[in-house]
Amino acid sequence: MLRLAAERPLQLKVRARSTSAEQQKEVMEHSKHTQTKDGGDGGSVLNGHFDGMVKRPPGGTGRSAAPPPPPHAADPQAPGAESGSHRPSNSVMESWKEERTRSVEDNEMSLPSLAAAYTTILRGLGEDPQRQGLLKTPWRAATAMQFFTKGYQEKIIDVLNDAIFDEDHDEMVIVKDIDMFSMCEHHLVPIFGRVHIGYLPNKRVLGLSKLARIVEIYSRRLQVQERLTKQIAVAITEALQPTGVGVVIEATHMCMVMRGVQKMNSKTVTSTMLGVFREDPKTRDEFLTLIRS
Ligand SMILES: [Zn+2]
Repeated sequence: MLRLAAERPLQLKVRARSTSAEQQKEVMEHSKHTQTKDGGDGGSVLNGHFDGMVKRPPGGTGRSAAPPPPPHAADPQAPGAESGSHRPSNSVMESWKEERTRSVEDNEMSLPSLAAAYTTILRGLGEDPQRQGLLKTPWRAATAMQFFTKGYQEKIIDVLNDAIFDEDHDEMVIVKDIDMFSMCEHHLVPIFGRVHIGYLPNKRVLGLSKLARIVEIYSRRLQVQERLTKQIAVAITEALQPTGVGVVIEATHMCMVMRGVQKMNSKTVTSTMLGVFREDPKTRDEFLTLIRS
């Protein structure tokens, strides 16, 4: 991880401060850009990953206890798919205060049924769950799946406690190349990649390691990359009320690499820009240049 401070034009700083109230309103807006680098075949983005989203039954997420995604976080390819089934749009500001949906005790309680489900899966695959190599597999797989989704056991607010500092620093802070491991909520296979975060502080800064912790909490849940990107940006915005935030995620989806188009090097890039990162092309370009350097 590294922290890059860049020179800001004075004019921009003044303007940014004077519009902080306006910026609060702007928080709801975000600039989202999704593209897939797939080495040429533009059609590959429409593989099973997005099929799965389109086919998802309306309102039936299958996990009522899961934290609802922020409104408008649905993939742009499925406009309106989530509309009406979640909290009103102004509640997106409360997303980081949401209750955790799983405890360590829940893990212990649900382990037997999860393991039994994996036994069913093994049988359904035509395997013999009593075969020596598979005897403990359901328990191992269940434990592993709980670990892969341990973000449900944590709340962003726990991370932020004692980690927000008053600091008269108003130059861009960037932490890039944060490793990210998540699970595609459509296929239950890994998504992995890197997250780049930048923000322009407004008298408050966050301990740098906490940015990686925010990434960890949201990524260790069942996710779509678009929602993950926005959740990280919104959490930082709510915690710090910065002048602007930018989040870029470059990720490989195993559901695209191992199945579907089977393109080894396909990567999906998503970004969310809030505040001046959204409004001011110079700030945004500076961020994008710094994360690529
Ligand atoms: Zn998928």
